[in-house]
Amino acid sequence: MADQVSSEARRRFLKMAVAGAAAAPLCALAARRLRAQEQVDPSSELAQQLGYVEDASEVDVEEWPSYEEGQVCANCDLFEGAEGDEYGPCQIFDGNLVAAPGWCSAWIEKTA
Ligand code: SF4
Repeated sequence: MADQVSSEARRRFLKMAVAGAAAAPLCALAARRLRAQEQVDPSSELAQQLGYVEDASEVDVEEWPSYEEGQVCANCDLFEGAEGDEYGPCQIFDGNLVAAPGWCSAWIEKTA
């Protein structure tokens, strides 16, 4: 009887552990979205180091020669906003919000 109870408890524990492991990435994404409340200040140190601007048409191409016309945050692989969002979380800025028409030197072409 005790063996049956302990086996049942072990099975229940394993089910909960598997469910918890499966939910972990979703919890991390939800946590990042909750944290992503602040807009990135273009005058902040990291933004300055990366040449972040809220409007890609204002990129100083002499200072940032890697910039190519058409590159904006909205089509960057590190942008996590939905299509049509004015601002969205950016992985480079720890999930803080960047402007969809913005740009920085970490821009990477969206793959999907
Ligand atoms: Fe915009 Fe991409 Fe730079 Fe983030 S990494 S600020 S989404 S260009």
